[in-house]
Amino acid sequence: MELKDIKTYVNERKAALKHKIGLNMKDKAPSLAIVQVGENEASTRYVRNKIKDCKEVGIAAEVYFYPENTTEFELVDEIEHLVEFYDGVMVQLPLPPHIRVEAAIAAIPKEKDVDGFRRDSCFDPATPLGIVNYLDYCGFEWTGKEVTIIGRSDIVGKPLARLMTNKDATVTLCHSKSKLSNHIYDSDLIVCAVGQAGFLNCYPIHCPVIDVGINFVKNDEGRSQLVGDAFNTDGRNVTPVPGGVGLLTRLTLLENVVKAKEMYG
Ligand code: NAD
Repeated sequence: MELKDIKTYVNERKAALKHKIGLNMKDKAPSLAIVQVGENEASTRYVRNKIKDCKEVGIAAEVYFYPENTTEFELVDEIEHLVEFYDGVMVQLPLPPHIRVEAAIAAIPKEKDVDGFRRDSCFDPATPLGIVNYLDYCGFEWTGKEVTIIGRSDIVGKPLARLMTNKDATVTLCHSKSKLSNHIYDSDLIVCAVGQAGFLNCYPIHCPVIDVGINFVKNDEGRSQLVGDAFNTDGRNVTPVPGGVGLLTRLTLLENVVKAKEMYG
């Protein structure tokens, strides 16, 4: 399987979403509340991109910003109030250390948890679902395929293993204690979600790679540069960073918001 151009795919799906919203939801657009706590440069950038994406397809999105010293109790109270007015609500992570992520997420009803972070959420998390949908588009034939996922986080590796197993792939979920080389060689597909620039570069890779990693390194001019876990892989069958999995994640959030409106709005 050859990986297809992600930007083209994302633009096609966004155009379809925009069409659907214009056709079926013109009286009341689907809506999303984004909760951000404290100043965090990366979070602010992600939130800005999400607002831009929403505008593009016709989702009414609003950011609710709370100062760093907001207490967990206050935040939960605010979220419980916000959920009344929106089809979807999401909390931009990370939160300040004194606020438990589980407490904030639990304040969002499962029908509105469009990030899919609750265990009983009505939605699959955006990054894993985005990857699976994209691989369908690329024509990946799942049945009996050997997939190695590197990284077992609750937001990427574990839910992705579940989704891919449901597609009838044979999934090996690797982590920092795994003997990776035993698995990598025989894989039909590798997903790398470790978060270390160039992590995959020392392995001989014979299959497509979905690069989830987001890492900042200094380039030759001393400027900060965004790279994935499979760094400098020009010409190989690897999704790009930037302009790869990040776009799939952003797209899937939009799709989850529209689904929330259709199913529970
Ligand atoms: P994490 O940061 O919580 O954990 C990293 C995982 O890598 C752990 O499961 C750990 O066991 C594994 N790991 C560490 N060293 C390893 C080694 N030597 N061999 C094998 N496995 C090893 O994971 P996360 O939250 O899924 O994030 C991973 C990366 O993906 C980060 O760079 C993050 O920024 C990025 N990410 C990107 C998106 C996106 O939309 N593009 C979404 C989520 C996360």
